[in-house]
Amino acid sequence: MNKTLNSIDPLNNEVVGSVAICYEDDLKRLLQQAKQAQVEWGKKSIQQRVQLVQQAYKQLEPIQAKLAKLISREMGKDARRASYEAGGAIHSGPWLAGDSGEALRSQRQGNSEIQYRPLGVVAVISPWNYPLAMANNLIVPALIAGNSVILKPSEETPLVADLLVKTLNQSLPNGVLQIAHGDGKTGEALVKADINMVAFTGSRATGQAIMANAAPKLKRLIMELGGNDPMLVLASADIHRAAQFAVASSFENAGQMCTSTERVYVDERIADQFERAVVAIAKNYRTGGWPEGDVDIGPLVNPRQHQKVVRHIHNAIEKGATLLLGEKSPKLPFIPPTVIIGIKPGMQLEDEETFGPVVAIDRFSTIEEGIHRANDSVYGLGAVVFGKSDAQEVANQLQAGMIGINQGAGGTPWVGAKQSGFGYHGGAEGHRQFAQLTLINH
Ligand code: NAD
Repeated sequence: MNKTLNSIDPLNNEVVGSVAICYEDDLKRLLQQAKQAQVEWGKKSIQQRVQLVQQAYKQLEPIQAKLAKLISREMGKDARRASYEAGGAIHSGPWLAGDSGEALRSQRQGNSEIQYRPLGVVAVISPWNYPLAMANNLIVPALIAGNSVILKPSEETPLVADLLVKTLNQSLPNGVLQIAHGDGKTGEALVKADINMVAFTGSRATGQAIMANAAPKLKRLIMELGGNDPMLVLASADIHRAAQFAVASSFENAGQMCTSTERVYVDERIADQFERAVVAIAKNYRTGGWPEGDVDIGPLVNPRQHQKVVRHIHNAIEKGATLLLGEKSPKLPFIPPTVIIGIKPGMQLEDEETFGPVVAIDRFSTIEEGIHRANDSVYGLGAVVFGKSDAQEVANQLQAGMIGINQGAGGTPWVGAKQSGFGYHGGAEGHRQFAQLTLINH
């Protein structure tokens, strides 16, 4: 039985560090501690919990650079973006605590009182692409609602999660926040254990497995899942702005962002100009390792993800798409800026989440056709439309939880439609999903 999990730097295959894997017996111990700790934690006032969590987040401030470096080393994010993510988590934590506290206070409604009571033990299961931000968004409201939390971070980014939890625990009461390391098997065991809620961010396939495993005991679920986000470019759009967005969004975090643009549909009347602009902009993006300054596209997280992107590029070319920029078979660990035109239904680039730095484009001759292609997906996380006043009417017809007009999609609450999510987080309604709503009539 493998006892340790190594974290590998995708840039050079170096072992960054290792952690102990959590097996069934360890999980039983964690769960017992989580249950015990929750009793006292749940009895504290919301204000006390907010104060304790805010105090705990203060302790992250001196280690921002250390957290950022671990993000870079574990998953390849360039130093600038990693520092931004670490700073964002440090500053959003206390804010999120205060905001959750406001939302979770009891309320009076005529002769009734609405209380937001703790659920018990919450399993937070997080992905590697924004390892701090994604864990943070779920840990904080779960704690403020009076639950104890067991975090199961991605097996790709265990060290940064470990540092986060150890540092917060310098001031949080014992057992309120714990960590269980391992891959999907640890995640599965945690979902099946005697916990009360799963707050998950990750792929649709894992979301399906979690829902099935949570079903026998009808455990509460919040799931933020994958996407295959479309972008529509109308004939009225500012072509240069639209092209800039298409490239920046497709390439963000080496394309490994849940709301990155995965498919672009452009009005055929402006398509030549748009494609030329996209290639001209994309050419300037630099591929490189995380320590280098001014890098736009870092290494992909691991060889499996790299192979998937290459497979999608091959599949599109074999089925008739044209590579305008990039390489057909890029070598590990990078995928250079890639632009492909003529994607069609039936190609993996169109039908699946690629998660790589690829701008994948096709043309539409009527807006109905463009909207149909955008909506023809099991996913519905984000969608974007560029145009003038006609963009609003198109936005009204897009099937996504978050829609951007002449800008990116996403904000508060953070929500996916169709199979991109189940429940949501952020905002008062989002925070309240971490609690048991209880109605008392006087
Ligand atoms: P993943 O689903 O492979 O893994 C996510 C987490 O689930 C990991 O900690 C993993 O160990 C765990 N896991 C795997 N199998 C499990 C099981 N059977 N039961 C319980 N846990 C299990 O996802 P990933 O590759 O880490 O992340 C990328 C995916 O996450 C993409 O699809 C991306 O779009 C999505 N994502 C979505 C959002 C959002 O807000 N909607 C944000 C970030 C990432």
